[in-house]
Order: sequence, then structure tokens, then C-alpha cells
Amino acid sequence: MSDPISSAPEGFARTAGGAIVMDGNRRRDEMVSELASNIRAAGSPAVCLATVLVGDDAPSQRYVRNKHLQAAKAGMVSRNEVLPADAGQARVEDVVSALAADPEVHGILVQSPLPPGYDEEAVLRLIPADKDVDGLTSESMGRLVRGLPGLVGCTPLGVMRLLERYGVPTSGRRAVVVGRSMLVGLPLTLLLARKGVDATVTIAHSRTVDLVDVCREADIVVGAVGQAGLITAAHVKPGATVIDVGISRTEAGIVGDVDFDAVQAVAGHITPMPGGTGPMTIACLLENTLTAARLQGAFPL
Ligand code: NDP
Repeated sequence: MSDPISSAPEGFARTAGGAIVMDGNRRRDEMVSELASNIRAAGSPAVCLATVLVGDDAPSQRYVRNKHLQAAKAGMVSRNEVLPADAGQARVEDVVSALAADPEVHGILVQSPLPPGYDEEAVLRLIPADKDVDGLTSESMGRLVRGLPGLVGCTPLGVMRLLERYGVPTSGRRAVVVGRSMLVGLPLTLLLARKGVDATVTIAHSRTVDLVDVCREADIVVGAVGQAGLITAAHVKPGATVIDVGISRTEAGIVGDVDFDAVQAVAGHITPMPGGTGPMTIACLLENTLTAARLQGAFPL
């Protein structure tokens, strides 16, 4: 990977090819300390995130550990309900129902994927919309579509927070989101097209014809696929902003959907992978936990 550290006049790092690096670790740290100050300023009420981890998938364990670590830095309380892979649907549902009914718990996150054999939708349905810090339930998605107050998926929200922080203009600009999942692509498309953000958005997927031409039209390209190196320099208009959400685990380590080395020479802004959208997902989970506490009247507006 090219060295993204030479310093840019604005205080932001640039890649060797001149693109501004959208540094997710740095932005996460800023967000976590802003959350900590807000909680302190409100007299340090207990704001509680509960996670539910079923099974012993190593990456899931790592993600959950990291979420608790960052929650503590933000001055939040957190709980982790850990169940064995063979706990069974009823036991998992009981745990989630108990968290849903507990007024001391403000946010609930069920770490995905559940082990094979579980009905994830049935578990999600038990999470009240005001505690749905992953923004995944039908009620949360419905609120997003209708523009009502609610909780928005952490990864798409993290992309929006990066665009804001780096001053990337969106109004009237063309954006292409590659990937149309409920988790990332679809909610991100809605956020980019929202009144006030006002991008003109195209959603691309596995059946899109001429992906290169579709992406080259865009001022903002987001890869949310999970196919290493799918977005090449040919996909990117000079000066465009390129955001990498995709994660592929290879022998060389974690790589994204964006061919970073080639694309950084063309792009105006680019996220590294790792160190871009991943840390932002965690920061936004904590932002959502505070929003959830507000929605429940447990934190001042
Ligand atoms: P899904 O598998 O649910 O969706 C992938 C999407 O990519 C689908 O819409 C699929 O199209 C599309 N797609 C597949 N192949 C192509 C192709 N060749 N060209 C264009 N589009 C294609 O994945 P998720 O949305 O859940 O996750 C996407 C990636 O983001 C994964 O790598 C995941 O690990 C990562 N991720 C990263 C996070 C972060 O914090 N950085 C957080 C969450 C996820 P179709 O609908 O036609 O099948």
C-alpha cells in the first residue's frame, strides 16, 4: 500500500499521489471524545449499550471487544451477553427480550452473523426501534425512508460523518453506491439522497452493466461489496471521493473493494482499508447509543 502520511496543508494527511486520506481512526477518536464530553456535561448519567454475542466466531469476538473498549472511552456503561453457539433460538430470544424490557439498557446490538440455524429476523423483531442501535429493524428502516427521527445503520452513518468531517460537497453531486444490502448500500443511498444532503444517487449491484462507466460519472464512489480490488483507477473520475466499505480477508491481510494504490493517484479523497470506515462504524454505534438514550428520555436533548 502507498504511504498515506505525507502531510497536507489543511492538517490532513495525503497519499503519495495527492489524495486526502479520510482517516477513520482520527475521526473516531474525535467523536468518542465529543461523546464523553457531552455525557460529562450532562452530569454523567449511565448510558448503556448491551451487546449479544452468540458462538465463538473470532472476528465477532474482536468486534464486540472493540465496541466495549470504545464505549468505555466514551464514558458509557456496557454489557455483553455471551451465549454458546448451541444456546438455541428460545434462549437468545429470552436474552434479547429481557434487554428490550430493561429501562437501564438504552441500546441493543445483536452481533451478526448468528451461527447457522438461527432465525436472525425473529431476533431482530424483538428489539424496540428506540433501542435498535444497528438501525436494522423494519421499524428503523421505515423511519429512515419516511424521514422520521430514529436510528440509522452505523456503517452508512459513518460514511456520512466522514464526508461531513472532510468537507466533501454532496448537494447536486453525483454519488454511486456499489452494493444494495439492507446493512450498508440501501440505507446509505437514502442518506445521500436526503433533503439537506441532496446528492443525485445511483445504486449499483451485481447485475449492473458497465460498472466502470457508471462509477466514472460520480463525484463520490462508495464500494460496499466485499470483492477485493473491484474499484480500480478506471472507475474513478479525477478528483472524486472514494470510500471503501468492503472487507475481504486475504493472505496479505484485510483488503477493501478499492484498489488503493492505483486509485489514490486519481482520487481527491480516499479512505484507507483498514482505518477508514471500520472505526467510523464503531464511533457511530456509540453516537446511536446516545441518540437512543435521548429517544427514551434518559438523556437531555
Ligand atoms: P452483502 O453481501 O449483503 O451485499 C453485497 C452487495 O454487493 C450486493 O448488493 C451485491 O449485489 C453487490 N455485488 C456483489 N458482487 C458485485 C459486483 N461484482 N459488482 C457490483 N456489485 C456487486 O454485503 P454487505 O452489504 O453486508 O457488506 C458489504 C461489504 O462491506 C462486506 O465486505 C462486509 O464485510 C463489509 N462491511 C464493512 C463494514 C465496515 O465497517 N467497513 C461494516 C459492514 C460490512 P446483489 O444485490 O445483486 O447480490
